[in-house]
Order: sequence, then structure tokens, then C-alpha cells
Amino acid sequence: MSPSRFDFEAQRDRMVRDQIAARGITNPRLLEAMRHVPRHLFVTPDLYTLAYEDHPLPIQENQTISQPYMVAYMLQLLALDGHEIVLEIGTGSGYQTALLCALCARVLSIERFPSLAREADLRLHHLGIQNYEILVGDGSSGLPDRAPFDAIIVSAAAPKLPQSLCDQLSEGGKMTIPLAGGWRHAYQQLVLVERRDGGFKVHHCGAVMFVPLVGEEGYKSE
Ligand code: SAH
Repeated sequence: MSPSRFDFEAQRDRMVRDQIAARGITNPRLLEAMRHVPRHLFVTPDLYTLAYEDHPLPIQENQTISQPYMVAYMLQLLALDGHEIVLEIGTGSGYQTALLCALCARVLSIERFPSLAREADLRLHHLGIQNYEILVGDGSSGLPDRAPFDAIIVSAAAPKLPQSLCDQLSEGGKMTIPLAGGWRHAYQQLVLVERRDGGFKVHHCGAVMFVPLVGEEGYKSE
């Protein structure tokens, strides 16, 4: 067991330098948060050695923790300045939740699997993170009772843009969401929705691959 194999801090520095900064992510607060959050603690111990590699990894319930670069890319699109209330849909492992907690004022995160929600909550709690709430349920229609949100980040792919999520953005608010495209939903693309001047601007941000958003405004089943 060589010391370097388990030097997670050095692995994180390398991940940020070679996968994140090297691909054009420049937001200093985001790069700092990624250097800090121990991604290996968000996967099972057998995957610790792969936690800082350039790809997604499996988590429980047949779901995935996204590739680090994809998380960074979505977070950079939101351009958070630290004052925002953010809604996250699809807590998964809680890794992205931990980054959000470092980048905004408060995070409300919804996960449809109770077991994932519970484990993510435990991890964040052990890391001493406090500015979040994790709720169990279908987040595809957002959280109308707690709206509006300065930003919404959806970590699972929807068949089409959920109108209720757009309506829960505050003026000037931003949402990133992967959407299905093409014949038989053959591919997915990431979009950035901005609410401004009484309307919504939609920017297309490239091809991506996410697990399905399952629920009322998502797919009816996996
Ligand atoms: N960003 C996460 C990755 C999440 S994978 C991480 O860092 O680990 C996407 C998650 O979305 C899965 O856990 C899945 O269960 C959840 N999900 C899918 N549809 C959902 C819905 N309608 N409401 C809430 N969570 C949902």
C-alpha cells in the first residue's frame, strides 16, 4: 500500500488541475471547494481509489455520482456568489450538495430514494456541514411551498423542461437541467434556463449523460 495511493488530498489537487481547471473551469470559489470536499467519502470504500478519476461512479439504488467535471461544469453555469438559496433535485450521494453548501447560503435538496437521502444526510452531517435540508420525495415539480429559488440544479434527465421548475426561479435566477433530445430520446443535452425580463432564456450547453428524472414532470418509470 503505497502512501500516494491513499493521499486523497493530493489526488484532489490533481483532479482539479488536470480534469477541471484544464478544461476551462475558472471560478476560484468552485475550484477551492472541489479541492476541499472529500469525494471518496461519498462512494463505498471499495471505490475510494477511483473517487478522483475522470468518470461517474455507481452508488446505491442503481444510481450514479456524476463525473467531477460534469458537476463543476453545471456549478460554474450557475455562477453562485454565496448569497443564494438553491434547490437541488437528485441528492444522490450528496457530493454535489456538499459543494453547493460551500458556494451558496442554503441548499434544499430532494431525493426520491429514502436510503440515498439518509446516507447523504449522514455524510454531510459528519463533515460538519449545516446549511442544507434533504427531503425525500419526487422533486420533478420542485418545492412550490418554498419557492422562489435563486438557482435550481437538476441532476437527472427530464423528458422535457418542467414548467413548474421554471416558475419557481426568482427573477435573475438560473437553472441547469439535462433534457432528452432526438428521436426516442436518443441523447441528452444540458440546458441553462435564465429567468429575466419577465421571460425565460434557454441556452444549450452540450451533450451529457444522466440517469432519468422519475416522477410527475419526469419519466413515469426508470
Ligand atoms: N449529483 C449527485 C448525483 C445524483 S444521480 C451526486 O453528486 O451524487 C441523480 C439522482 O436523482 C439519483 O439519486 C436519483 O434517485 C435522483 N432522482 C431521480 N428522479 C428524481 C426525482 N423526481 N426527485 C428526486 N430525486 C430524483
